[in-house]
Amino acid sequence: MSKLNLITLLLIFFISIKGYSQNRTEINIPDIPGYITLKCDFHMHTVFSDGDVWPTVRVQEAWLEGLDAISITEHIEYLPHSQDIDADHNRSYEIAKPLADQLGIILIQGAEITRNMPPGHLNAIFIKNANLLEREDWWEACVEAKEQGAFVFWNHPGWKAQQPDTTLWWKEHTRLFNAGIMQGIEVYNESEFYPEALKWAKEKKLTVIANSDVHGPSNMAFSAEKKRPFTLVFVTEKTTEGVKQAMLDKRTLAYFEDKLAGDRAFLTPIFLNSLDIADKPVELKNHEVKRVRVTNESDLTYKLKKRQPSIGFKCPEELIIEAHKTILIELEGISKEIANAGVLKMYYEVENLMTLDGEALPVILEIANK
Ligand code: ZN
Repeated sequence: MSKLNLITLLLIFFISIKGYSQNRTEINIPDIPGYITLKCDFHMHTVFSDGDVWPTVRVQEAWLEGLDAISITEHIEYLPHSQDIDADHNRSYEIAKPLADQLGIILIQGAEITRNMPPGHLNAIFIKNANLLEREDWWEACVEAKEQGAFVFWNHPGWKAQQPDTTLWWKEHTRLFNAGIMQGIEVYNESEFYPEALKWAKEKKLTVIANSDVHGPSNMAFSAEKKRPFTLVFVTEKTTEGVKQAMLDKRTLAYFEDKLAGDRAFLTPIFLNSLDIADKPVELKNHEVKRVRVTNESDLTYKLKKRQPSIGFKCPEELIIEAHKTILIELEGISKEIANAGVLKMYYEVENLMTLDGEALPVILEIANK
């Protein structure tokens, strides 16, 4: 091989790997019994509506930031870049899809039906043709989305620009809900939490969702201090269909500000599967102090507060189990009977795991004693 050929070959090699020489940062949140845990963001924009980036950048960001599935949801009715970008509503999906397939990111076709309140902004995901959502009447747009098999959810329901005084549920939402069109709700959007939405999710059995609604580059909007929100989706298979089925079955949790919010049925196994608790019996006896090792293998830091005393022994009032750290929990025997207890139970609540009632998740830490 001539020297020139070799240089050309090397040049091609380096150019071809250039874009993907960075590292993906995985998000460590455990799977739960029966389900794979996916990290998903179902709300974001590109230059094809009012965002600042090209569609493939959204896929690259998702890959770098450890996400598994995303939906690019351009506004149907708000296209401020239309003088420069003259394209139909499916174009950003079509541009992003080949790269998503290459990088193993599940790209779900979506769009944002963008109306005044009521009904406000609604995302329709798992659609087939966004162009058909361009309708005079918002109701017709929603019916069309449903006919395409969409999962529709209410975006930023407490957004001050549309709900300045109180976060209200309007009769239009009842209509969408009763028609089986609106099945989910953002309890968190970008940097806002909506407690009312969590309450409605419980009352009306809506799927709990948290999204970034990112418009600029994601590393401009989010940082280590202000983490990108996302939705945990518990799937039986890592496919578009798997994600859709999970959304329909309400198998989700909202992640934001180092918190998780949603159904206890998912919060509890996430918490317990994050921890590795020493399984050697502690053999605690009266008047003795023993230490138990607990390792948190997840990216979530758990803040625990005692909710009731343990029987026959004392344990700390508060515990902070930091992400990827090991702690020693000090136990003190205060009864003769404790030596005969097979299992020691500690009753805590996890302050940063929020149930649908908006309360801290109660948990029991069990330690083998003998
Ligand atoms: Zn949006």
